[in-house]
Amino acid sequence: MDATAGEVTLDEVVALCKRRGFVFQSSEIYGGLASTYDYGHYGVLLKNNVKAEWWRAVVQERDDVVALDAAILMHPRTWEASGHLDGFTDPLIDCRACNLRFRADDLEDANCGKKPSKRPGEYSECDLTDPRQFNLMFETQMGPVKDDAATVYLRPETAQGIFVNFKNVLQFARKKPPFGIAQVGKAFRNEITPGNFVFRTREFEQMEVEFFVPPDEAAEWHKRWLADRMRWYVELGIRTDRLRLREHGADELSHYSSATSDVEYLFPMGWMELEGIANRGDFDLSRHAEFSGEKLEYFDQGSGERYVPHVIEPSAGADRAMLAFLVDAYDTEEVEGRKRTVLRLHPRLAPVKVAVLPLVSKEGMPERARAIYEELRARIPAEFDEGGSIGKRYRRQDEIGTPIGITIDGQTAEDDTVTLRDRDSLEQIRTPVQGLADELTERLQRPWQSPKSS
Ligand code: ATP
Repeated sequence: MDATAGEVTLDEVVALCKRRGFVFQSSEIYGGLASTYDYGHYGVLLKNNVKAEWWRAVVQERDDVVALDAAILMHPRTWEASGHLDGFTDPLIDCRACNLRFRADDLEDANCGKKPSKRPGEYSECDLTDPRQFNLMFETQMGPVKDDAATVYLRPETAQGIFVNFKNVLQFARKKPPFGIAQVGKAFRNEITPGNFVFRTREFEQMEVEFFVPPDEAAEWHKRWLADRMRWYVELGIRTDRLRLREHGADELSHYSSATSDVEYLFPMGWMELEGIANRGDFDLSRHAEFSGEKLEYFDQGSGERYVPHVIEPSAGADRAMLAFLVDAYDTEEVEGRKRTVLRLHPRLAPVKVAVLPLVSKEGMPERARAIYEELRARIPAEFDEGGSIGKRYRRQDEIGTPIGITIDGQTAEDDTVTLRDRDSLEQIRTPVQGLADELTERLQRPWQSPKSS
């Protein structure tokens, strides 16, 4: 069977993101800026949770990785040393007939500008240029004078901010290899063909670790990081049959990499990269040492050995990961003759964990519900919603993926209990208001598996 059969389309996910205010087209009132997006309330909360889970896994739950937040603008020599100035290019082809641009290595999947759309070059009118190399870095000027000396770049990856800080961290974090530096931040690439919603944009967020190891341990640590990173996605609920590791063939490897594997997810567009995990050898530290004149190495006082550490780099995209979680979570089902759309997000990722809803807007229910909500929100991300029918309010919470709904009804005033509704099973139970926050915390921490897995 086609693995994508019966699955969600990207359009459905995009529509939900817009309908519920997760993600908007950027600068919409001016007609939008191509492939650029703004995150609304639930989008911010969801992406923050993705990043928080990443920090938890790579820093909090380990003792060999420390955090860093380097500046987006870096000394321009950085990009000479890293090879980006010369080599961070994609082959670009222009069509003089329709004025569209294509990636020369992606023509098979590209659509030309004419209708019905064919592959570029398939119409007799198509007039394609030869491929030329196009640098993906965004250039800007620093300071008031516009000359070559003032040219700086918006970083195309967060990694280089880590390499140039290797010495600082070694000195101040009291670490020795094997140890890592983790960073989350914006990166910019002037992609020739952005698209598929937030999958490929020109401004995006990366979550990267550079893990420095003694050279003879690199292969082993690469394997460990592959396993660790795969486990992260699975533990956060991604279905295992939608996730795979793909090893790069020799022809795909960057010149500095001895091994790279991608974590791939089965998006509606097919299997696509979520994260690349590379064994980069000593390329980065050696190059920065050469270009800066600083020694970037480790001296082991025990053995008297001096060496340039090798680097294992798990490099993920926060927006791409968020999109994968959304796609994987999106579900529809029929309940009592009505269609229900629900985001079956892992509770740890859900933007709102608990919705507190008075059954009706009378008999003191809204006031009681609000008091319960105000007590809960200090401990649990909660939302209070009193407008409209209860069915409509539940539909809204289902669509933003809220795992637990609490309803305050007539019985609450009698025995101080509320109804607790489970997003996935729709099971409802009554539970006392007394101890409610503890009960919810315990429920939210239970191991969770996507009901779509079975
Ligand atoms: P791709 O082959 O998809 O262009 P890449 O191999 O160039 O990706 P890396 O340089 O390895 O990507 O970047 C690491 C991660 O950063 C990717 O796995 C992806 O999650 C994210 N990423 C890279 N480019 C983009 C982009 N244009 N938009 C959103 N996320 C991106």
